[in-house]
Amino acid sequence: METPDPGCSLCPRLVDFRRANRQAHREWRNAPVPSFGAIAAAVLVVGLAPGLKGANATGRPFTGDSAGELLYATLEKFGFSQGIYQARADDGLELIGLRITNAVRCVPPGNKPVASEIRACLPFLVSEMAEMKALKLVVALGRVAHCAVLAAFGEKKSSWPFAHGAVHHIADRPVLIDSYHCSRYNTNTRRLTPAMFEAVFENAGRLLDSSDK
Ligand code: URA
Repeated sequence: METPDPGCSLCPRLVDFRRANRQAHREWRNAPVPSFGAIAAAVLVVGLAPGLKGANATGRPFTGDSAGELLYATLEKFGFSQGIYQARADDGLELIGLRITNAVRCVPPGNKPVASEIRACLPFLVSEMAEMKALKLVVALGRVAHCAVLAAFGEKKSSWPFAHGAVHHIADRPVLIDSYHCSRYNTNTRRLTPAMFEAVFENAGRLLDSSDK
């Protein structure tokens, strides 16, 4: 249940979009994008949704997306990956102790899932986190991911407000760390700089180390 099946029909708008993309681009995946990384990982990074010409085409989260350039470079810098990211699902890149998923598993028109689609995809995130028996930290990329994680935890949004770099210690749950999404929009406008993004993963590494002691 952790990944929707390729023909998932929960969201009519996303099914229509998938059909249109299948017609126009037969070489793309055009199906829900499965998570990347081992289920035994201690860290789960939650993005928004697959990019049309990136993850939706390549079949791996953030792969071929402009957002993936910064994400994968940062993961490498802090020891969360090995191999060279080459924007292809078969580039041999491996994640170390970390898994990547999306709040919504299918590509939405205009990169914007609607509330009912986020809700419909939530059970996949819930079951994924339940299956991650070693899960200690969740890094939410952007407000939608942050709210989806809180909903999966059964927590109120108002109790844990989103803020870049915020670390939420919620009783009996993995620690939740927020970051602005590493989208091109955020990096181009300098709302998110590489240094700000790196600080989040540096902190994640530090929190993981201290939890092992
Ligand atoms: N690609 C993804 O897989 N997720 C995002 O949130 C953005 C791009």
